Amino acid sequence: MRRASIAVFAALVLAVCFFAGREFRSMRVADGIYPSPGLTEARLLSDWFPPLRGTPGDTPVFVFRGAEPGGAVLVLGGTHPNEPAGYVTAVVLSETLRAARGTVVVVPRANASGYTHSDPQEASPQRYAIPAPGGPRTFTLGARVTNPVHQWPDPAVYVNPGGQALAGVEARNLNRAYPGRADGTLTERVAWAIMALIRAEKIDLGVDLHESAPEYPVINAIVFHERAADIAASAQMALQAEGWEFRLEASPPNLRGLSHREWGDAAGIAAVLLETPNASHGRLKGKTSAALVVEGRDRFYVRAAELGRLFVPFGPEGIPLKERVARHLAGLAALLDALGEASPAKAVVVGGAPPAADIRTRGIGPSLHPPK
Ligand SMILES: [Zn+2]
Repeated sequence: MRRASIAVFAALVLAVCFFAGREFRSMRVADGIYPSPGLTEARLLSDWFPPLRGTPGDTPVFVFRGAEPGGAVLVLGGTHPNEPAGYVTAVVLSETLRAARGTVVVVPRANASGYTHSDPQEASPQRYAIPAPGGPRTFTLGARVTNPVHQWPDPAVYVNPGGQALAGVEARNLNRAYPGRADGTLTERVAWAIMALIRAEKIDLGVDLHESAPEYPVINAIVFHERAADIAASAQMALQAEGWEFRLEASPPNLRGLSHREWGDAAGIAAVLLETPNASHGRLKGKTSAALVVEGRDRFYVRAAELGRLFVPFGPEGIPLKERVARHLAGLAALLDALGEASPAKAVVVGGAPPAADIRTRGIGPSLHPPK
């Protein structure tokens, strides 16, 4: 009898492991991205750093080159795969953009490994769907950091390439790993490859798209390297005139390893990082669900706003993904205009991408390719 119950229990455990393992592995299949007809080159990040080829850090790069010469802009989504607005904005750009002048390079999933797992102990949904005319498009909600299956173990203390000592888990955070190391961890090699791309493509302006929790002070913000101070300030004024409130946050010179610091210091470009408010990765949220990711409504955040604990207004209508994607698109458009004003020879002129106001009113779906 005892043997029989052990056998039954073992079979149950194996069944749970099988189904859970299959769910976990399913995240290794990357979301489809269907580039716009304006695409000039579909590349991989390893094209700029071949040792990355065939590793879980390699990731698609979409290049849009205009017929007329101009500047070059890098747009990064998915540095933190649990921040969906940056990723979805980069996908919308990849699927709609065309360049008339200058070059735009879009990396939708900067930390590709981070898309192959979820943040532990968060009970996050693995995916969320955006309604689109040809049927819903499904996107992966990944984790903040590289998958430990791909980079293990974490050190007790992580000393990043800039010499800053950080908690061990930050060894897997792409936005602490710049300027990277050619022979370093997977995360450091991804950072190294992005730096190689920036140099080879002679990028003038780099924009890293993020989200932060509504209780975090750096929010609805443009974080700027001092080389991008003029561009960021003139973009902020233009955005304000259009009704978008953005805070300006100077990149602290002693905070090493972050894109807005190291892209500027190591490659000499104008570097900025944009933050939008995401209730689904804050600490005050209720249930983490796909609806929270997309609709951004949470009664605990409404209460926190009433108590004056948040750095953004948060009402019962929440802050939906379409509002956050619209904000990123508005920020990008203003930064491109500011780049052209600051140095006309470096102007980048694009078309095809939806205006922020359209995303706000019609949603994201009409700007996405139908699912295949
Ligand atoms: Zn982030």
